[in-house]
Amino acid sequence: MQLYKEQTLKITNSLTGKKDVFKPINEGHIGMYVCGPTVYSNVHLGNCRTFMSFDMIFRYLRHLDYKVRYVRNITDAGHLVDDADEGEDKIAKKARLEKIEPMEVVQRYTVDFHKILEQFNFLPPSIEPTATGHIIEQLEIIKEILQKGYAYEVNGSVYFDVKKFNERFEYGKLSGRKLEDMIANTRELTAQSEKRSPQDFALWKKAEPQHIMRWPSPWGDGFPGWHLECTAMSTKYLGETFDIHGGGMDLKFPHHECEIAQAEASNGHSPVNYWLHANMLTLNGKKMAKSTGNNILPGEIFSGENTILSKPFTPSVVRFFMMQAHYTSILDLSNDALLASEKGYHRLMDAIDSLKDLPTGKKSDFNISEWRQKCYEAMNDDFNTPILIANLFEAVKHINLIKEGKESVSESDKELLQKTINDFVFEVLGLEDKRESGQDSDTLQRVVELLIQLRNEARTNKDFATSDKIRDQLVAMGIQLKDGKDGTTFSIS
Ligand code: AMP
Ligand code: ZN
Repeated sequence: MQLYKEQTLKITNSLTGKKDVFKPINEGHIGMYVCGPTVYSNVHLGNCRTFMSFDMIFRYLRHLDYKVRYVRNITDAGHLVDDADEGEDKIAKKARLEKIEPMEVVQRYTVDFHKILEQFNFLPPSIEPTATGHIIEQLEIIKEILQKGYAYEVNGSVYFDVKKFNERFEYGKLSGRKLEDMIANTRELTAQSEKRSPQDFALWKKAEPQHIMRWPSPWGDGFPGWHLECTAMSTKYLGETFDIHGGGMDLKFPHHECEIAQAEASNGHSPVNYWLHANMLTLNGKKMAKSTGNNILPGEIFSGENTILSKPFTPSVVRFFMMQAHYTSILDLSNDALLASEKGYHRLMDAIDSLKDLPTGKKSDFNISEWRQKCYEAMNDDFNTPILIANLFEAVKHINLIKEGKESVSESDKELLQKTINDFVFEVLGLEDKRESGQDSDTLQRVVELLIQLRNEARTNKDFATSDKIRDQLVAMGIQLKDGKDGTTFSIS
């Protein structure tokens, strides 16, 4: 029997503002769409958090035996620097600054995105479509919306008519805003604006002669508005109404609100049953963002090369750190928090490591079946990974007591314990045991200590060529030396 038949999953639905019991449109099948990255620069750790939240959700849905079609797009056109449909396309701007083709920008940062996600042990989505690969589908939707009277053309651009839409539908239902309030709180349009109202948004923008990313359309050469691509790609691969749509909290408005409006205007019904929003990763209490520079790249965490870090951290430790917070809560990154996660991660992996050699005997009071169901209950309660991890540490405590001979476990319970750990730690949380083996790391430790000693001797003899050579070559191997008042310490990335 499929696991989903035994478990009741509840998820926080931004559309209803409640935890709703999850019921897919077609039994046993799930269509899930997540807004992907705009590939004009390296993904920062904040972006990774949102994608990791949905990777965990994808993993759990698969674990429950659902057949999931997971679509996560690549935004390679249409995302403007300014949310109010003004300014340059982010990718075109980067291409202009670097004097390369826009598609070179897209290629470079898509490759970087995939590399980082692989280091974090992400599962690939079922389909990863691109905006530029779906221009025709986007044009078709614009024609449909125009034909239904919810858009207007001005001077080669097409805008969505929010006021007209709101007469029949409800603009703002996802983000809990009222159109009247939005109108009251926005500034008047500038004289050069083509929009009838500031809330209107671009479906198609006319390309000025210098704009390099351009496609022919019935309204002249131009490019699609950012919100449209997600409507086009989700409808194409998941249908007019599908189960789950996800993205970061900051996309709820205007991006997702506009997606709903586009879909309802073109086909008359709501596109998504469950809207899920992942919360932000912050640094120094402020949202991590590309635009403000308040961000940290995954590579900097893996190498330790950032002033906020005292040492490097592995992708698994960072993943564990992220999973310790609920995906709907804000999470603040700091060196101390990473150090604490590293400790916890090692404690968990050490216990798992010792599991295979654990002696078996009589059944204990620790009820493994009940504990396994508690793990499910945590995940069924809106993917509550911090509670799941707390449950896992109950098992760690039990394993350690058995190791010390203070408790026992029966053969069948040990098997169930192992299976549950495997299901939740590796399959659902996506953690990997990436610690060096004890013996290798001991030897490495001694070799580096020897090199530090040789470097110190060279420095005492004022042989700086040798001392620098030792340090530089260690750095090249990913080993950083830190000279402090108590001597030299090192870290390995
Ligand atoms: P972008 O490439 O800017 O379109 O963003 C890609 C994804 O990263 C979106 O789902 C954003 O909501 C998400 N995102 C951006 N900044 C953060 C952050 N600081 N924490 C979590 N997610 C973020
Ligand atoms: Zn989107």
